[in-house]
Amino acid sequence: MTRDAVMFKETRTFDQNAKKHLCFQTVICSECQAFENHPVKGARPLPPEPLIKYFQRQGWVMGSSRKHDICPACVKEAAAAKRRDLAKKNGERLTGSGELPPLPHKTAEIIQMNPKEPAMATPQPAPPPRTPSREDKRLIILEIEDHYLGPDRGYSVGITDASLATKLSVPVKWVIDLREEFFGPVVDPEVAILKTNLASMMERLDAHEREGREIRSKLMELKARVAKIGGGQ
Ligand SMILES: [Zn+2]
Repeated sequence: MTRDAVMFKETRTFDQNAKKHLCFQTVICSECQAFENHPVKGARPLPPEPLIKYFQRQGWVMGSSRKHDICPACVKEAAAAKRRDLAKKNGERLTGSGELPPLPHKTAEIIQMNPKEPAMATPQPAPPPRTPSREDKRLIILEIEDHYLGPDRGYSVGITDASLATKLSVPVKWVIDLREEFFGPVVDPEVAILKTNLASMMERLDAHEREGREIRSKLMELKARVAKIGGGQ
């Protein structure tokens, strides 16, 4: 696989609890913008090969560039779509080998897999898309409420429509629809990360300025004492 380390995004986030900066190599899903961090220990980021293996172990499909990575939730959804598609096909006529064709690498392609199949004598039409019950909606809204920080900030770090959908075992579309209707837009994770970094830098600047003022006042005090001892020279 020809893919070098710069193909991963490196991000820095200020950890409020540990009071220090954490560095990450970040992978971003090309389908749903979900992202996952690999913490960089010391000053040495992982080289591409082990980093790719690391994310693959977490369930990611790693593309030829960082524009083609797909998160575990989207991979799962693609596989489910694939199975539904295959089940439908098998219902119409038995396929020869019955073995799964290789998983294509983008959800979009999988969804439009079967465009030319004639609609002849379909014994079992595809089930209508499920719609959320009142209870589903309530649970989804509660979950979004827990993780959505506001229309300007979107979800908190690491949370996406897809991750909430996976957690609740509901279609991503339900989460997207309810989030759009009751909360606000998804904020680009890159922007959210930048904002977080900016906020922590502002915080550090404030701390430095406070420290500066303290040092100045101590210095002035010391100067006054020296002047006094020196007999007002
Ligand atoms: Zn995804």
